[in-house]
Amino acid sequence: MAIATINPATGETLKTFEPLSEHEVDERLALAAAEFEIYRATDFKQRAAWMQSAAGLLESEQEQVARLMTTEMGKTLVSARAEVAKCVKGMRYYAEHAEEFLADEPADAPAVGARKAYARYQPLGPVLAVMPWNFPLWQAVRFAAPALMAGNVGLLKHASNVPQTALYLGELFARAGFPRGCFQTLLIGSGQVEAVLRDRRVVAATLTGSEPAGRSVAAIAGSEVKKTVLELGGSDPYIVMPSADLDGAVATAVTARVQNNGQSCIAAKRFIVHAEVYDDFADRFVARMEALRVGDPEDESTDVGPLATRQGRDDVEKIVADAAGRGARVLCGGWSPDRPGWFYQPTVVAGVTPEMRLFGEEVFGPVASLYRVGDIDEALALANITSFGLGSNAWTADVVEQERFITDLEAGIVCINGMVVSYPELPFGGVKNSGYGRELSAHGIREFCNIKAVWIG
Ligand code: NAP
Repeated sequence: MAIATINPATGETLKTFEPLSEHEVDERLALAAAEFEIYRATDFKQRAAWMQSAAGLLESEQEQVARLMTTEMGKTLVSARAEVAKCVKGMRYYAEHAEEFLADEPADAPAVGARKAYARYQPLGPVLAVMPWNFPLWQAVRFAAPALMAGNVGLLKHASNVPQTALYLGELFARAGFPRGCFQTLLIGSGQVEAVLRDRRVVAATLTGSEPAGRSVAAIAGSEVKKTVLELGGSDPYIVMPSADLDGAVATAVTARVQNNGQSCIAAKRFIVHAEVYDDFADRFVARMEALRVGDPEDESTDVGPLATRQGRDDVEKIVADAAGRGARVLCGGWSPDRPGWFYQPTVVAGVTPEMRLFGEEVFGPVASLYRVGDIDEALALANITSFGLGSNAWTADVVEQERFITDLEAGIVCINGMVVSYPELPFGGVKNSGYGRELSAHGIREFCNIKAVWIG
């Protein structure tokens, strides 16, 4: 994939970039390694001051950055602004809490025959972050803010279709006062990742993206005995039980499916509805999906903009055609508007069966599958049937059912009577093929730390 900004709303190539040469990559790794030796000794007060300054700069540049993201990957301008605000909040959160999250953790000293015993969290070194385009700022910030506050230094390999957002971020931290080597953007293709990962100066990696990319990076890192965190795909269930607030469940279902033009790892993708409320839910859900406005992402009245890449739109068309060809019923959508850019109409499909790709694969566009179930056991079995385990949603007013969903849904996140959203205050990540490790909260900042056991006799 060429490193380029191509406007998904028009298909026009706006700017192309040459990938860094081997020599240029080497220079950046050398700078990262050298900087780490100095930066690791800075205190939390200093790091927090720089992080607050980065948050302030970003906040003041919200409109410019939001427009850049909309141009590079097609998210609506309204949602792009919200993404910037979320990043500002995430940066401030870690500026305020890192010291407390990484404070020495006392252990039972007499039990281990010590005068004093505790765990100390220390930074690891330069960490490579391989990031996707769908939340081009947030995905990178949710790595960078805790990593920098912990005293690590970051190397960002961003997706090839968001180079300008990647460059902006690389500069943001330097402009805020962080020494230059603390956070650098590497404009490289995915073929150059292996060499960076194997370099002895890079000590760990985090990847947010597809399952194949995650498997590849984890295999290479594993062979080098380097720690990884993987945030991969999802095919989140959205279960609606008879006692649910149906108005809320329907309205939230639409947002949960079409957020970010349908391209979110934690978007609800499979709607599993109890037979007692299925018809009512389906009618109202389809009506709302049909009423969404598809169009120019810069227009503030647009609900759904284009998909980010031509390839992404082709994939969605194929997965829906496969289901329709095998007998699924397309209740609305199922087609691409005849206009430039990579738009796809919000789509609802019913009658999905296991031999269809839509049943087991992640669909990365505004396509919902509807399933009818007879009871909670059937709902849980269907929810857990995929190889993914990222987020999950269940709507029910019954507290016994709520507890059952919380316990039995195979997912890293469960959301009752709402939709999955990431918050700095809560851990974020998956199980099964959705990956491992956690981002955000105290758990996220500790992933790239040497948790050193200290024993003093
Ligand atoms: P992708 O193709 O895996 O790309 C993600 C990043 O990995 C990009 O920087 C890409 O670089 C790089 N990459 C791709 N193949 C690689 C390889 N073999 N070795 C090293 N790096 C490689 O994913 P995407 O299509 O952009 O994003 C969509 C996927 O990400 C979906 O599955 C979605 O669910 C998942 N996602 C997960 C989360 C989460 O938090 N769990 C969040 C967002 C998205 P190039 O662009 O240069 O190819």
